[in-house]
Amino acid sequence: MRHLLSTRGITRDQAVQILDVAEDMADVATREVPRLPVLRGKTVVNLFYEDSTRTRISFEAAAKRLSADVINFSAKGSSVSKGESLKDTAQTLAAMGADAVIIRHQSSGAPEVLARSGWIDAGIVNAGDGTHEHPTQALLDAFTIRRRIHGQAARGKGLEGCRVTIVGDILHSRVARSNVWLLTCLGAQVSLVAPATLMPLAIGEWPVEVDYDLDHALSAGPDVVMMLRIQAERMHDAFFPNAREYSRQWGLDDERLARLPESSMVMHPGPMNRGLEISAGAADSPRSTVREQVANGVSVRMAVLYLLLAGAMEEAA
Ligand code: ASP
Repeated sequence: MRHLLSTRGITRDQAVQILDVAEDMADVATREVPRLPVLRGKTVVNLFYEDSTRTRISFEAAAKRLSADVINFSAKGSSVSKGESLKDTAQTLAAMGADAVIIRHQSSGAPEVLARSGWIDAGIVNAGDGTHEHPTQALLDAFTIRRRIHGQAARGKGLEGCRVTIVGDILHSRVARSNVWLLTCLGAQVSLVAPATLMPLAIGEWPVEVDYDLDHALSAGPDVVMMLRIQAERMHDAFFPNAREYSRQWGLDDERLARLPESSMVMHPGPMNRGLEISAGAADSPRSTVREQVANGVSVRMAVLYLLLAGAMEEAA
C-alpha cells in the first residue's frame, strides 16, 4: 500500500488484511512494553490544517508504538497562516525526509493532490479532507464492530449480514462517506437516516437504504446505530429549525436507546455534542462503543502505517 486516501475502491481482501493486522497490533498493546521496532528510522509527519483531538494523538501514538520519529505540524501557528502553499509546505517536509504524511485538510481532495503531485515522495494518509473521506475512522469503526460481533475469532472475517444505521448530518460527514464504502464492501447492509436537508443530493447512487424517520429506522432493531456530529462549522445555512427540534426528531435519547435491542451497538466518531445528537445516557451506556473506538483507532492506525511503510500491500484506493 503506497497511500491511503479513501475507502472507495478498496477491496474486501485489502480491508480484511488491514483489520487483521490491526488485530495483531491490538495484541502488541497488551504487552508490558507496547512497542515494536518495525518503523525505526522512519519519519511520520502529522500535517493538520483542521482541528483534531483524537485523530492527531491517535496517529502520534500509533507511530511511536512502531518506533517511528513523529513531527507534529499544525497549520495554526505555522507559516501556513502567513500564506504558505501546500506545495511549499510539502517540499519542506520532503527536505526533512518525511516517509509518511498524515494530512487533515479542510478541502476535499487535498490528500490526493499531495499524493499525485510529485512534490513529496512519501506515503500519504488521509486523516479527514473536507466533507469527502476519513478512511482510518471507517477502518476503526469496522474493526470495532467486527470485534464486538466475533470477539477473538474476528480474524479473516467481514461484516456479512450486519445491519448498520448511520444517523444525522450525512451531508457534511466524511465519516459517513468512508463508512458507506467500507462497511458495504465488507458485506454490511447500511441505512442512512437524516432530515432531507442533511441528505446528499446524489444519495440515490449510494449502495444504501435511505430513511427520513429515525423511529421507523430504529424499529427494525439495527445491530449498529452510528450517530454523527452536527458539523456546524460546515453549515452556512439553516439546515433545521433549532437544536431542540433536531434532537427531538433525530437525536438518540434515553427513550430511543431503551427501545433498541440489548445487543445493539451505539457508535459515535467524536467529538460528541451531548444533548444534541446523542444523550449522555446513550453515550455512556454499556452499548456505547465510543471509548473502544478511540482505543481501536490506535491499533488500526498502527496497521495502516505498518502496511504503508514496512509491509507489502497492493495499492489501496
Ligand atoms: N472527528 C470526525 C471528523 O473529523 C467526526 C467529526 O468531526 O464529527 O470528521
